[in-house]
Amino acid sequence: MKVINVIAELKEIVTSLKKQGKTIGFVPTMGYFHEGHLTLMRTAAEKTDYVVASIFVNPLQFGAGEDFEEYPRDLERDISLADSTGVKLVFTPGTAEMYPTGYATFVEVGQLTDKLCGGSRPGHFRGVATVVTKLFNIVNPDIAFFGQKDAQQALVLKKMAEDLNINVEIEIVPIVREPDGLAMSSRNKYLSSEERKSALVLSKALSLAQALIKSGARNTVELKREIINFISREPAARIDYVDILSFPGLKEIENINGQVIVALAVFIAGTRLIDNVILEV
Ligand code: AMP
Repeated sequence: MKVINVIAELKEIVTSLKKQGKTIGFVPTMGYFHEGHLTLMRTAAEKTDYVVASIFVNPLQFGAGEDFEEYPRDLERDISLADSTGVKLVFTPGTAEMYPTGYATFVEVGQLTDKLCGGSRPGHFRGVATVVTKLFNIVNPDIAFFGQKDAQQALVLKKMAEDLNINVEIEIVPIVREPDGLAMSSRNKYLSSEERKSALVLSKALSLAQALIKSGARNTVELKREIINFISREPAARIDYVDILSFPGLKEIENINGQVIVALAVFIAGTRLIDNVILEV
């Protein structure tokens, strides 16, 4: 497996692979791999000839006071894990390689970005869309793989690729969870063992929503109230948002009818965690 941190070198490799008729799979990440990332990589390896994974903690998608500096990093471990999944190349650019002095171009998706994480993290999706556009131009993948864990991100990037006529297929991979239900996340590393238990409130709240909807609840205001009450009983939890929106349109709805997403962002002590489920009635 190759490890490359220079854009020009990666472009040269990709050009030669394309000439040989190879299909390229791409898994963009911020590193500190867990089974969620590795599942994306294995899926990519099944579906394409040559898989590139990138590791780049993108400063542009972090707001002031967020955890850019503390974000967990372990490049050596990540490289050996990626190697075990069938990834052929890991791209690990430095910040100056991606955003050299004088960098001045940004990508903004004008729909789907005002709710959920876009609402509570202003500028976040501008950072994500910008870096992913650059990565798509560098890697030129046939298929790019993203996790349902970041459901809104996947929708925003699909819209971006469509609007900008980027020749890439975007494939969404289901959420990988710990055996007790906690959605895997690099940020779970921040949790103490007590907080780790408290963090189960997210997946439990989604199970509650699912059960209520299954038993006939349809009014989103009432459902949100039940979910908020449930989460509020966990002392370590502070809600950032709880929302139920149409899916994939992310529109406000009064009553559930068709496909919806129930999405949560909850701080457990200082750690902001997200989770979601997509349901159809
Ligand atoms: P990150 O490194 O957190 O930016 O994530 C990189 C990619 O992995 C994104 O497409 C995420 O949606 C995906 N991902 C993160 N956690 C999970 C998970 N638990 N299950 C599936 N995909 C995930």
